[in-house]
Amino acid sequence: MNILVTGGAGYIGSHTCIALIEAGHSVVVIDNLRNSSKYSIESIKRITNQDISFCKIDVSDKSAVERIFEKNSFDGVIHLAGLKAVGDSVIKPLEYYENNLMSTLSILNACQKFNVNRFVFSSSATVYGENKSPFTETMVLMPTTNPYGETKVMCERILTDIAKTNQAFSVSILRYFNPIGAHESGLIGESPTGIPNNLMPYITQVAKGKHPFLNIFGNHYPTTDGTGERDYIHVMDLAEGHVAAMEQMTEGVHIYNLGTGRGTTVLELVKAFEQATGITIPFKISVQRQGDIASCYADVSKAQRQLQWSAKRDLIGMCRDAWRFEQNYQEV
Ligand code: NAD
Ligand code: UDP
Repeated sequence: MNILVTGGAGYIGSHTCIALIEAGHSVVVIDNLRNSSKYSIESIKRITNQDISFCKIDVSDKSAVERIFEKNSFDGVIHLAGLKAVGDSVIKPLEYYENNLMSTLSILNACQKFNVNRFVFSSSATVYGENKSPFTETMVLMPTTNPYGETKVMCERILTDIAKTNQAFSVSILRYFNPIGAHESGLIGESPTGIPNNLMPYITQVAKGKHPFLNIFGNHYPTTDGTGERDYIHVMDLAEGHVAAMEQMTEGVHIYNLGTGRGTTVLELVKAFEQATGITIPFKISVQRQGDIASCYADVSKAQRQLQWSAKRDLIGMCRDAWRFEQNYQEV
């Protein structure tokens, strides 16, 4: 298949491009490089030994997107472009609603106009809000605590409405849990700008000596050791989930959790990282982060059953690969 990947220069998008190419598909990437660089496109080419077509445009720009559809014949679209920093979205809600909604509307318009009927959307476990883990796809969604999460809920609704009126349009909504790690080459990975908000990039930066210690946000949650629990999934497993979703697409809207189904606490992740790398991570317990929930992990049985997909890589591998990338990574 010829697949258009929006946000393909980003963390999950670049790994998804590799998984698609390895599965025999060809890819065209659209990205405005707002949170990424052309380096990841060059790295995809290096890793796969294949050329890919890259268009530096904003997905919200309807006419620019249509021009790409005029020049190419796509079998499907994987729409990952979007802004994703939860805290930032609380400070700049308008920017988040505008970027994440307008880009989704723009790409959907092009799909409708050019009759491209396979669509995969990047959603997030954040849509489950304060439901109790394990999260299942049929749960009634709780209000999220931030505009970023609301944009995901809204996009899910938009997609569902379109699929209701256009029977030919097939949609897979993928609710990601916590992607970490990097491609095993160490050439691409997660490279947040500034001080990382997420746990794994913070740990790798402590290991590199960029920060003296890790702040653990609270140790009084109702979890095995009191620290927050998440479902960490290797980014290459997540990427392969996109390939499965695209290849197994059937009529209508299908929602899938992409996680491992296992919860890991902050302290357990720190321990796994130390075991994988031999590096001690100093930490201090600090106050809980506003908006954090105690526990978030997936029921992954639907994706296993319907997509014949499951996460294969373990926590030690995730830590080893994240660290390999951090060691190679030079800020641009
Ligand atoms: P990322 O920031 O690394 O990648 C997103 C890419 O989209 C970036 O390369 C950015 O430059 C591009 N982009 C943003 N707005 C654009 C626009 N208007 N036009 C063109 N390009 C644009 O983030 P990621 O971690 O790879 O996340 C990809 C998707 O997955 C996002 O939609 C995010 O909300 C979602 N998601 C991520 C996580 C996570 O933990 N990383 C979890 C759940 C959902
Ligand atoms: N966390 C932490 N210190 C950090 C960053 C995160 O203790 O510097 C905790 C956070 O409270 C949560 C877990 O690590 O329990 C995962 O946080 P992350 O931001 O990576 O993912 P999210 O909370 O968005 O699922």
